[in-house]
Amino acid sequence: METGAVVQKSLKKDLYEGVDFYGIDDLLTEEHLLIRSSIRDFVKREISPYIEDWAQKAHFPYEIVKKFGEVGAFGPQIPSAYGGGGLDYISYGLIMQEVERGDSGMRSTASVQGSLVMYPIYKFGSEAQREKYLPKLASGEMLGCFGLTEPDHGSNPSGMTTNFKDMGDHFLLNGAKMWISNSPKADIAVVWAKDESGRIHGLIVERGMEGFSTPETHNKWSLRASCTGELVFDNVKVPKENILPNKSGLGAPLMCLDSARYGIAWGTLGAAMDCYDSARRYAMERIQFDKPIASFQLIQKKLAEMLTEITKAQLLVWKLGKMMEEGKATTAQISLAKRNNVAMALDIAREARQIHGGMGITGEYSIMRHMMNLESVVTYEGTHDIHLLILGNEITGISAFK
Ligand SMILES: Cc1cc2nc3c(=O)[nH]c(=O)nc-3n(C[C@H](O)[C@H](O)[C@H](O)COP(=O)(O)OP(=O)(O)OC[C@H]3O[C@@H](n4cnc5c(N)ncnc54)[C@H](O)[C@@H]3O)c2cc1C
Repeated sequence: METGAVVQKSLKKDLYEGVDFYGIDDLLTEEHLLIRSSIRDFVKREISPYIEDWAQKAHFPYEIVKKFGEVGAFGPQIPSAYGGGGLDYISYGLIMQEVERGDSGMRSTASVQGSLVMYPIYKFGSEAQREKYLPKLASGEMLGCFGLTEPDHGSNPSGMTTNFKDMGDHFLLNGAKMWISNSPKADIAVVWAKDESGRIHGLIVERGMEGFSTPETHNKWSLRASCTGELVFDNVKVPKENILPNKSGLGAPLMCLDSARYGIAWGTLGAAMDCYDSARRYAMERIQFDKPIASFQLIQKKLAEMLTEITKAQLLVWKLGKMMEEGKATTAQISLAKRNNVAMALDIAREARQIHGGMGITGEYSIMRHMMNLESVVTYEGTHDIHLLILGNEITGISAFK
């Protein structure tokens, strides 16, 4: 009985060390390495010991919001004058990588807050909106969500029907959003809705406004430690000062998605590295036919291919980070990285699951949780196929999805 408990404890210890086959750390600055190491320690301390339990119970640990704020995981790329980290895009990527190494649901909370709530308020908001919301969002005093997807408009957000009317002294908002990360616990929602002429604008809707509700979506098999829900607007009176004044049209939410997809490209690399690290360790320790399974060629093939794909993906995001920093990265370049790295991570999770044999389906290892999480990540922020068609459009100049 006692021995069983000891084995259980040692299996759950987070032994992750990181993967760097090509010396890619040489491309990082001292500051980057420090940031990565502090977030890695944070994840080992605040996420790894509990994540399996949260995920099994479909529990969103609200206390993590404040902790993310303290460690600088919210809006690292937002200027420090507004409470953000004032860091470069590589730092932002490294933070997302380390958090998603722990869990994609935890990374979803952080990247929605930073890229989909703070970013639009910073980029398209008024000075008063920036001052009112950004410091509180950065510190975790406030949680936000981003409402673009609707029940009948997912891949095609331009068809959205959520709308608002100008009532003179306020806007009247009606409609519904679906699949919204953080919504059940969010204090504010950045909501994309059409005005009377059909033009899309961002509005900041606050919890407590009459007619605004956020029912939770239950029974997910994926991102179980992240809360997801709807946003329902039933004649919600939104003050006029809550409209984001500096950009309208579909391009505005798409710019936010570019920033978030960049974070996903890094984040999923973290999930992939966790699966690889665990598979390598397990293969060295697990004995079958009197040998470690790592000695069989088929297992070595899986590990070698994982390492190859991780190394390619690391170089991809590093270069993309440099282009983001220079303001040169295009939507299609970000699509390529998001699409490639999510698919790479999903493949690695599936192969790692096989290397772990039956143990791979249990909560003793992070593999199956990563795999199920990545099934959402491959769909949200533009599905795998939509990103392929964005690239097809870039290559040919012909849109195959409109
Ligand atoms: C856990 C989770 C969290 C999410 N969080 C958020 C959030 O915070 N905010 C938010 O706004 N949204 C969020 N989403 C929504 C997400 O972005 C959408 O699920 C996604 O955009 C796809 O939309 P859909 O689910 O309606 O699928 P659909 O658009 O109905 O697509 C179904 C299938 O059809 C394919 N398809 C669609 N159109 C075409 C085409 N033209 N050509 C070829 N194939 C096509 C798709 O690739 C897909 O395989 C979240 C989703 C999930 C699962």
